[in-house]
This record gives sequence, structure tokens and C-alpha cells, in this order.
Amino acid sequence: MSMFTAVEMAPRDPILGLNEQFAADTNPNKVNLGVGVYYDDNGKLPLLRCVQAVEEDMIKSPKARGYLPIDGIVAYDDAVKGLVFGPDSEPVKSGRVATIQGLGGTGGLKVGADFLKKLNPNAKVLISNPSWENHRALFTQAGFVVEEYPYYDAARRGIDFDGMLNALNAAPAGTIVVLHACCHNPTGYDIRADQWDQVVGAVKARNLVAFLDMAYQGFGYGIQEDGAAIGKFVAAGLNFFVSTSFSKSFSLYGERVGALSVLCENKDEAARVLSQLKIMIRTNYSNPPTHGGAVVAAVLSTPALRTLWEKELGEMRDRIKLMRHKLVDGLKAAGVKQDMSFITDQIGMFSYSGLSKDQMVRLRQEFGVYGTDTGRMCVAALNSKNIDYVCQSIAKVL
Ligand code: PLP
Repeated sequence: MSMFTAVEMAPRDPILGLNEQFAADTNPNKVNLGVGVYYDDNGKLPLLRCVQAVEEDMIKSPKARGYLPIDGIVAYDDAVKGLVFGPDSEPVKSGRVATIQGLGGTGGLKVGADFLKKLNPNAKVLISNPSWENHRALFTQAGFVVEEYPYYDAARRGIDFDGMLNALNAAPAGTIVVLHACCHNPTGYDIRADQWDQVVGAVKARNLVAFLDMAYQGFGYGIQEDGAAIGKFVAAGLNFFVSTSFSKSFSLYGERVGALSVLCENKDEAARVLSQLKIMIRTNYSNPPTHGGAVVAAVLSTPALRTLWEKELGEMRDRIKLMRHKLVDGLKAAGVKQDMSFITDQIGMFSYSGLSKDQMVRLRQEFGVYGTDTGRMCVAALNSKNIDYVCQSIAKVL
């Protein structure tokens, strides 16, 4: 008998399962809106010009690749701090931010989760209902009990903010609250600035631990605008966690570029926290890979490339917004009577379309248009060639 006889088959990742189904679909008009990836108007994954410029320089003067420090490239970590908190902000200037280069946003979240588990093993974790599906799995795997706070209100096509705030106000001290800093995945609905103030107030009053997941900085309104919630937590004098992902904003999905930043009380505390984060890393994957981090650090610390990056990021953001408008107009033109303008109220890469599971299944089976069963569609995968077909298909199942 094998030692693995009792090992059960784990459930398939729902999104990857959808991708496999999409690949096998023979419909020539098929469209994959299930993924969380930005495609350009030709349906291609873009290679940003700023990234290409750095890589061309690297090829001209090739270098051997030694080990990086456990916490990653110093210039990279410094650039992350600048993006998250502002380069001239008090937390950065006073040196009280501990930042590590992580393996994507997921890696940043996991290092933070492992550190929190050591710090406060009995804490509970609250995630939004719904949330990015890996939040629950990741914090569960780190040993936490994960529960939800209300977020999406289907009837209102928006956020159940009272429900969210009530849940935070009822949470025991020390509860870790995972918050989407901007561009909420999967719903596309973000809370307003005044609502952030109330969330910050609840986190402070209840002594909760905020963990802000920033996977889409720059995809909402702009780099600074999308980081506004961070500033509110800083202003309230809180210590908190921020994970960063550059997967989308640099179109470097496979390079695994991300980070974790922990805002501490002072510089000495940040040094101690950093030393503990380094243990999490050292005993897990030892140190991060070189290439993606080096590219991002070079772009962010070279003024001309940084300007180019912001321009390219702006182009991605604007194209998504254009697709939202085209989707609303196209649905109307295809004869949809109900008001679909909520799609342009949403922000970031996704839209909770309000379609039921049955409607999503019909979209897939009859039209080859793939979104998740929850009704989530990736607006960043729409383009001028597939938009009419998608609108007509949706109109037929509504
Ligand atoms: N957090 C959220 C909310 C996400 O949507 C994603 C990616 O889809 C991530 C984190 C993870 O990003 P990465 O691919 O950089 O690990």
C-alpha cells in the first residue's frame, strides 16, 4: 500500500478550470472573461515599453545572478515604500516601514500571514464577502480561522457598508481585517473616502489589525489616488500591513513581483519586524528571484522610465474604462432594457455583472463567453473586436 493511498484529490482551482474549458472550446468567437489579466485591444498580453527598455539594457551588459538579500533588492523595497506611502511621507522618512520583496502579491500576503500567526496565533481573520478567492485559502493555510464581513449587496448593486461596519465593530480586538485598498476583486465596487474614514475609525477603536491588499494600484484613478486609503491609516496613527502586486501594473505576471510592507511605531521596531519577516522568507524560499525585481526597481528609480510606466499604466486604466462604457452602450444597442450603467460605477479590472449562475453557464455553453459562475467578468479582456459579440451574447441570456 502506498503512503499516498489516503490522499484525496483537491478541488480544482475554479478559474484555472475555466481556462481549461476555454482552451478546449471550438467556438471561433469564444472570449475568455474569466481570467484576472489585462489584455490590450488586440487581445494580447502587453509587454510594457518601460520593461522592454530595461531588459534591452540588461542584454547589452549581461550580469551573473548571485543571491539577493533575503528581503530583496534595496532599491526595489525603497521604491515600493515610495509608491505605497509616498516618497516624502513621514513613515518613509522616519524609517518605520519594514518592506520585503515578495513573490507577487500572493507572496507578500503569505509572508505577512505567517508573521501574524507567530505574533498572534489566536487571532481570527475577516475577509470581504465576496473576496479574491485565494484570501480565504491563504490565511486558512497559514493556520487562521477565516470569517467574512458583509461587502457586496446584490439587491442594491453596491456595497452593504452598514453591514461591513457592524461586523468590524463586533470583531474582537486583534482580529485581522483584510481590506482591498482599491479596485475590489471580484465586485469592482470600492468604498468611498468618507466610508474609509469610518473603517479606519472602527479598526482603531476596536484594536483590529488592518491588512491592505493592493494588487491594482494605478488601475482605479491613479497611483496616488488609489493609495489614498493607506494615507488614512497612517494619519490615524495605526500600525498595519500592506501587500503590493506588480503583476498587473507592470504586466509581469510570471515574474512574481510583489512586496509586503509593515508600518511600525518607529525605526527600531521596523528593524525588529524586518528581522522576523526575514526568518519567514529564509525558511520558506530563502530569498527572492532577481529578474522581475531588478526590472521594476530600474523602472521606478529612473525618472524617464518611471514617467513612461505611469503613461502606460494610464493607458491600461483608460482602455478598461472605455470598455466599461462600450459594454453599457453595446448592451443597450443589443436591446437590453434594464439599466446596466452600474458597470461604469465599478472600478478596476472586474465587473460583477449581476448575471446568475444559470446565465453565466448559458453564456459559456451557447456563446463561448467565459466568466465565473458568480457573474464576474474581466473588463480588461474586452476589446474593440470582441465587445459587440459579448454584448449580443449577454443580451440573449438576460
Ligand atoms: N490580491 C488580489 C485582490 C488579487 O486580485 C491578486 C491577483 O489576482 C493578488 C492579490 C495576487 O497577485 P499576484 O499574482 O501578484 O500574486
